[in-house]
Amino acid sequence: KKEDTSTEKSEDNLRSPICCIMGHVDTGKTKLLDCIRGTNVQEGEAGGITQQIGATYFPAENIRERTKELKADAKLKVPGLLVIDTPGHESFTNLRSRGSSLCDIAILVVDIMHGLEPQTIESLNLLRMRNTEFIVALNKVDRLYGWKTSRNAPIMKTMKQQSKDVQNEFSMRLTQIITQFKEQGLNTELYYKNREMGETYSIVPTSAISGEGVPDLLLLLVQWSQKTMVEKLTYSNEVQCTVLEVKVVEGHGTTIDVVLVNGVLHEGDQIVVCGMQGPIVTSIRALLTPHPMKELRVKGTYLHHKQIKAAQGIKITAQGLEHAIAGTGLYVVGPQDDLDDIMEAAMEDMKSVMNRIDKSGEGVCVQASTLGSLEALLEFLKTPEVNIPVSGISIGPVHKKDVMKASVMLEKKKEFATILAFDVKVTPEARELADELGVKIFIADIIYHLFDQFKAYIDNLKEQKKKEAADEAVFPCVLKILPNCVFNKKDPIVLGVDVLEGIAKVGTPICVPQREFIDIGRVASIENNHKPVDIAKKGQKVAIKIIGSNPEEQQKMFGRHFEIEDELVSRISRNSIDVLKANYRDDLSIEDWKLVVKLKTLFKIQ
Ligand code: GDP
Repeated sequence: KKEDTSTEKSEDNLRSPICCIMGHVDTGKTKLLDCIRGTNVQEGEAGGITQQIGATYFPAENIRERTKELKADAKLKVPGLLVIDTPGHESFTNLRSRGSSLCDIAILVVDIMHGLEPQTIESLNLLRMRNTEFIVALNKVDRLYGWKTSRNAPIMKTMKQQSKDVQNEFSMRLTQIITQFKEQGLNTELYYKNREMGETYSIVPTSAISGEGVPDLLLLLVQWSQKTMVEKLTYSNEVQCTVLEVKVVEGHGTTIDVVLVNGVLHEGDQIVVCGMQGPIVTSIRALLTPHPMKELRVKGTYLHHKQIKAAQGIKITAQGLEHAIAGTGLYVVGPQDDLDDIMEAAMEDMKSVMNRIDKSGEGVCVQASTLGSLEALLEFLKTPEVNIPVSGISIGPVHKKDVMKASVMLEKKKEFATILAFDVKVTPEARELADELGVKIFIADIIYHLFDQFKAYIDNLKEQKKKEAADEAVFPCVLKILPNCVFNKKDPIVLGVDVLEGIAKVGTPICVPQREFIDIGRVASIENNHKPVDIAKKGQKVAIKIIGSNPEEQQKMFGRHFEIEDELVSRISRNSIDVLKANYRDDLSIEDWKLVVKLKTLFKIQ
């Protein structure tokens, strides 16, 4: 890392901050993006707004024009704002560029009518994980009952025009949402009341339909980023570039869409990108951007550039990009650079992900659209509440080979013969093969939905196993025969007993240790106060019926083979203990487990 850039640090030499939009589905992310993009002018992209690959560029001039009503004396030092176009997805917002978040700042959209929703919280956690600044857009204010719209107006101005009722409803909802953020450990405040920006996150009320509050949002984005991120936003010649998407384009083969955060890219530059099968070394065949005029944009036609300077969204064509991984860094090999070093650096992102794979080799397979989303998913699976081991990872659609890989677990641990697919497609052939082999594939767009599905599946499997194991698992108990309660001496034996220790359960084989461990049969039923029950716990006095375990043998008899003073205990074995441990760990108390150990000694089990 070069340290000497500090001298170049200057406010005149800033690049555009990169912004992304996140939030729960249907909060209005797409609409808000459209609204920010669409100026009053109908045709083309007026005001210097340019469509780039995967991003839209807003020049400072445009932002100044749109925010002039705010009279904020908007001294804009950044050349503009680069907004990533694909809203909402972790896949895009968790993208990194040399270790830190690709996005300098994010807009977290919350629907004022719904408050914080599951994906809002997921986005929040990602932003915190990446230490990314963000501003909350409290969207759909126009839906407050009785709202009077004034198009594209600053929020304070439009708020003054609202009736008392509307203002009250707004305040009430705002307060609720601030409380919800507080519950997530976050201080938030209406932006124009926020005196401690940095510690308290700002909320900007907006309407993506009427454009109200949008000037405020734009100004705040730019002001906040240039105020706090001068160092990060200082233009540097060192190329910093992240792969957004890997796409096949007719006539161009496999291309990569990248965001160039810093530096300059040239046609012919030798580049290294991270690939599924190792580093990909190639050279830039073409640097492409869309035509600046909408009318000229025909599918598959692009403007060619000799060179492009940051910050920009670009499509790169080159040979050998088929296995490139979205979400990783792109490196340029300079004349002084050592290719091996750069190849290693390019694989660095992948390494951190590889390290997350369970060393035991037992675990589920996970698959995601980008490295960023894969990381987010792995991070989540690792948390103690979730704790799902991972044995394999992949990026991109689920293919037959991925199913084959997951099927290896069928023999080891059936529940792990599972693919958790996050934001990726499953090919029909892969689906077919999975059904055939018995590999489960769970698909979701929200991380914790994957967890919910997997957990339901595991719980179901456990339940099934428990049922299968019920005959083999033996609950530990010690019973004392109550005086005057021998109701039947044999076939079946019916006794009143006091549960001295453990749990008496229907199905438990019973033996008498004092009489050379003779087996007297299995508990066929239990009655507590004349009501049939499945189990009786320590301290309960119940009637039990014991039938012979082996129909070909005469059952042992009370008064002949055992007596009133003899204790009755569960007959346990090595196998029964193992089954108990595997399936009923949580059904037994610590005391019960101690009894298991005691009986183990009694029966001399190794
Ligand atoms: P996304 O899933 O977050 O991208 O949400 P969309 O942008 O697709 O919006 C979801 C729905 O909410 C659409 O029907 C939009 O027209 C509507 N919508 C979005 N923003 C607003 C808003 O500010 N006001 C109102 N009334 N509707 C909105």
